[in-house]
Amino acid sequence: RGLIDTVLMAGQALHPIVSPTIWPPAAPKYDVMVVGAGFAGSVMAERLASIGKTVLVVDRRPHIAGNAYDRLDDAGLLIHQYGPHIFHTNSTEIFEYLSQFTEWRAYEHRVLAKVDGLLVPIPINRTTINILYGLDLRSEAEAEAFLASRAEPVPLIETSEDVVIAAVGRELYDKFFRDYTRKQWGLDPSQLDRTVTSRVPTRTNTDDRYFNDRFQAMPAEGYTKMFERMLDHPNIDLLLGTDYAQVRSAYLHTQLVFTGPIDEYFGYRFGKLPYRSLRFEHETIDTPWFQPVAVVNYPDLETPYTRITEYKHLTGQENDRTSITREYPQAEGDAYYPIPREENQALFKRYEALARSEENVTFVGRLATYRYYNMDQIVGQALASFRRTFLHAERAPAD
Ligand code: FAD
Ligand code: UDP
Repeated sequence: RGLIDTVLMAGQALHPIVSPTIWPPAAPKYDVMVVGAGFAGSVMAERLASIGKTVLVVDRRPHIAGNAYDRLDDAGLLIHQYGPHIFHTNSTEIFEYLSQFTEWRAYEHRVLAKVDGLLVPIPINRTTINILYGLDLRSEAEAEAFLASRAEPVPLIETSEDVVIAAVGRELYDKFFRDYTRKQWGLDPSQLDRTVTSRVPTRTNTDDRYFNDRFQAMPAEGYTKMFERMLDHPNIDLLLGTDYAQVRSAYLHTQLVFTGPIDEYFGYRFGKLPYRSLRFEHETIDTPWFQPVAVVNYPDLETPYTRITEYKHLTGQENDRTSITREYPQAEGDAYYPIPREENQALFKRYEALARSEENVTFVGRLATYRYYNMDQIVGQALASFRRTFLHAERAPAD
């Protein structure tokens, strides 16, 4: 049994419920059922299989890789179905773990923002200031002095507005952050936890990379290929196009790993946790290049999308045409972003308390732990969760 012959697509997946004795032919019982084939679920499945557990991975989507899923479009260009995913991490352990399943293409992410009709670097750096204000600041000290003259003192930095105002002042905040955030989250930055805009640093040098991390690279053949290798293990079966609710009783399992939304798992008992969604508009254009960098941000309210991604910058593919994606934020739809606010965290805590007393169930991932985590953080969370739940727990009795 390998990955390919055990993949069931939507439709077929109903058979096991109707007639479990006919399909699947073997192993209707698994040590662990894993809900979700994204980073959280796939890392857990891979680790569990590596210690000899039999695993059934179930995902309601018709593909693996969760939100990191990429695919070739009609033009033969590799695009990210759910928006741009750029890999970066400071953790050697996480980078080495993933390197078992992929080669890498060196790539440092650079983003420009369209502000006052100009394309300028974001994160705000010395170049951004020089272009926007027609200045010629030459040193970090000069740029620091410029920002200090604009920054407003904020005694206690609590919100996403405070973070930016304290660093660059209100004018740059208005130009780069206020409206982008209002579009992206449907909330004013003052209504969001400081952690949201803190993701974007402010620089006084001319470093125009989006991330500071030690490791910055893209999986050479894409994310989906990397996930295929992770899940390609004789102990792992895969059921795609299948919701957990459809199969929870059809396959016996001793343990459950759940990586879907935690509020959904508990039947929305305390009410729905808020998530922000997006609509992705993919387009192929008859021109070799569309924009100078992989991502251009549009931090104004008139433009209905937040950013445009052009994938050839990420992949290095050569083609006479180019494929882009526009991201339109929306309230309804797939849960993409947990919304970092105190009241949401309080509601999550109530679900988390239920999760703690749920026996033989492990909650991992961005949706199950309601955390605005990057891919590498989810890999780290899953590796730690695996060790805690399945390695140390098993060793304990023998100690
Ligand atoms: P997911 O990838 O969401 O996987 C969960 C899976 O569970 C899904 O496939 C879902 O279909 C399945 N599922 C849920 N409930 C059920 C159920 N009841 N039954 C069956 N299946 C179920 N991170 C970065 O590091 N760099 C980036 O550049 C980056 N860009 C991003 C851009 C966007 C637009 C978004 C939305 C996220 C981005 N991220 C980025 C974050 C990254 O997507 C996440 O950190 C990562 O994908 C989380 O993995 P996960 O397994 O927790 O969740
Ligand atoms: N942000 C902004 N303007 C920008 C870039 C980011 O206001 O040009 C804010 C916005 O609130 C965004 C957050 O900073 O949601 C984090 O940005 P990041 O690029 O990390 O978002 P992600 O890639 O996770 O969507």
